[in-house]
Amino acid sequence: MTLRVSIDPGLCRGHQMCVLGSPDVFASGDNDDGLGEVLGAVQPQSRFEELRRVASGCPESAISIAFV
Ligand code: SF4
Repeated sequence: MTLRVSIDPGLCRGHQMCVLGSPDVFASGDNDDGLGEVLGAVQPQSRFEELRRVASGCPESAISIAFV
């Protein structure tokens, strides 16, 4: 199984906590509002704990992690 990572653009407010937590997975979007962007939507299951922590740290609960 792998992990699929996504950000709900309707919830994201651009705090950038996710970028600090996993900079190879999340980035600051190149739009003016600075909303988060997912660079690596598919990740190995071995990163679940790390990404779960990052998702928990999102102040807007905008990050979803699903097993696919
Ligand atoms: S931490 Fe959450 S609100 Fe902030 S940029 Fe990342 S997804 Fe968006």
